[in-house]
Amino acid sequence: MKAILDHVGIAVQDVEKALAFYRDALGLEVEAPEDVTSQHVRARFIPTGQASLELLEATAPDSAIAKFVDKRGPGIHHVTLRVDDIGAAIEHLKARGIRLVDDRPRPGAEGALVAFIHPSAAHGVLIELKQAAPRRPTLAIKSLSLGDLRLTVLHDGGFRLDGGAMFGVVPKPLWEKLAPPDDRNRIQLATRPLLVEAAWGRMIVDCGIGDKMGPKPTDIYALDRAQHLDHALVELGLDSSSIDFALATHLHFDHFGGATMRVGDALKPRFTRARYLIRAAEWEDATHPHERNRASYLPEDFVPLAGAGAIEFFETDGEIKPGVRVVRTGGHTGQHQIVYVESRGQTAVFVADLIPTTAHLQDPWVMGYDLFPVDTLMFKKHFIHEAIEREYLIVFEHDPHIAAGYIRETANGKRSVEQVL
Ligand SMILES: [Zn+2]
Ligand SMILES: [Zn+2]
Repeated sequence: MKAILDHVGIAVQDVEKALAFYRDALGLEVEAPEDVTSQHVRARFIPTGQASLELLEATAPDSAIAKFVDKRGPGIHHVTLRVDDIGAAIEHLKARGIRLVDDRPRPGAEGALVAFIHPSAAHGVLIELKQAAPRRPTLAIKSLSLGDLRLTVLHDGGFRLDGGAMFGVVPKPLWEKLAPPDDRNRIQLATRPLLVEAAWGRMIVDCGIGDKMGPKPTDIYALDRAQHLDHALVELGLDSSSIDFALATHLHFDHFGGATMRVGDALKPRFTRARYLIRAAEWEDATHPHERNRASYLPEDFVPLAGAGAIEFFETDGEIKPGVRVVRTGGHTGQHQIVYVESRGQTAVFVADLIPTTAHLQDPWVMGYDLFPVDTLMFKKHFIHEAIEREYLIVFEHDPHIAAGYIRETANGKRSVEQVL
């Protein structure tokens, strides 16, 4: 079992008095108080490098911390070790006959899973095992100028997909370091449509997931709608009538679900004035799905657009509007395309599911979802080379924390992203 020291819990009589030492005398920074109501405890975390100190004060006389202080006085209460897979850690200990307080994980603070090992097994120390929750996505709205164009990376909330499916043939011990899975093996993702503002109007590239999902898929994909595309548009002083063109990289639900919305019993275009720009062959594939891609193509996302006469089909690669050009990659879907945005010698590329996150920079890190993974690989190898050489600004549609940046490569082939947005 691999474990990292997460924090040391210190039971105190009075947190404010304890801060006179830890904060004022030692000069450490202290985080805002956190009430763990189920445990009748108020906690103050003090970051100290990789691990933290946690000051614990009881908020009720029947709290375990109150009993501890009454019996033994203030002092070290527990040591917390962070593990990657708490279920596996518990099984590992059970198999060795170790006495546990919790024989299965239970929810801790901030979405973490925790379990305690009995002090009698750990030579007098109460040990807490903890599996941290994946971080929530970073959903700030950020803009930059690219020549004569204005680019804004919007967002349509967070969601999660199976980590194994997101990394294809890459073994979990490699990907889980970059994208920590939750207790259902899902990794945190975001959806980030791109807004292009130009003299010819406003274009949104992809539309996010939208609000049509029922409770079951909402649970399966952990849809997080606390902040979504409507909020992002409002923040920019825009609304659903402000968009002139909506361009699809492909018609999967996590890219074009937000193209339509429910109005009473009817399904309508989400952007009331927009022309929806869709590659004709992708439309063919999406409206004739097979067993392998049916779960990703949901007719309610795009068929109502045809009914409303809102679609403009195009057939081939090329310039869609001045400065906006599509290039078919294939691979992920047969007609998957990326979008080059170019002005005055500067280039940004919206790479959609070709490189869904910054964890997918290495060539063979290709999604299991891809219908033609070798096509993805071939295109990606060539493209990343080009992107590094020509300093393309890459927009990562699904990355939970990095919206856009430059891909860099060291002499030994190790790649990273220099974050811009
Ligand atoms: Zn897709
Ligand atoms: Zn996707």
